[in-house]
Amino acid sequence: MATVLVVEDEQALALMLKYNLEKEGYTVLTEDRGNKVLGVVEKNAPQLILLDWMLPELSGVEICKLIRSKPDIKQIPIIMLTAKGQEEDKIKGLNAGADDYVTKPFSIPELMARVKANLRRAPEIVPTKILTYEDIQIDVVQRKVSRQGNYVHLGPTEFRLLKILMQNPGKVFSREYLLKTVWGNNIYVESRTIDVHIRRLRKALNQFGPDYIRTVRATGYSIDKNETIE
Ligand code: CA
Repeated sequence: MATVLVVEDEQALALMLKYNLEKEGYTVLTEDRGNKVLGVVEKNAPQLILLDWMLPELSGVEICKLIRSKPDIKQIPIIMLTAKGQEEDKIKGLNAGADDYVTKPFSIPELMARVKANLRRAPEIVPTKILTYEDIQIDVVQRKVSRQGNYVHLGPTEFRLLKILMQNPGKVFSREYLLKTVWGNNIYVESRTIDVHIRRLRKALNQFGPDYIRTVRATGYSIDKNETIE
């Protein structure tokens, strides 16, 4: 059964949604803070997102746009939940990339029907997503990495780091961003820890080809074959 992410800062409503979705057989994740949503989505790849409009830190519309800009998660159906009933807001939400729009207060049977319909409409329940950069390929769903046809064994942290870099080749990701995305906001990890995992990642990848991981001094890392600086 599908995993549904409920993003809602009203705790009573979040619990009620979780309860009802679980009753229907879905696995439910909940998040109440806007700036954590992207990390949760990238880590768990839910099949559908119920997204509240008004959230602390980052609005539902902003989150929706962010999700739609990421190649490996952009196809996840999003249903916006909102207290705003105005046509203008509805259009804003749909323009940001929401698939559907439900105005609070809503009836649970109606929402469940929308969830089901949006899951059915989704191109595939489990997205198969292959990211490729030069001779490196990663299957985001199966969590497999290969280079020139060779299987590359990576630990979970190295895999996540590589996935982030490969989502946007050439873009330099700061250590801070990588720490937040890979380890989450609540865990204290030393910045040097990233360097250790990048070293492992390089070692595993470079068995089968040149070093494409680029270290940008005092900033962070990217995957970019044009320039490799240690
Ligand atoms: Ca809210």
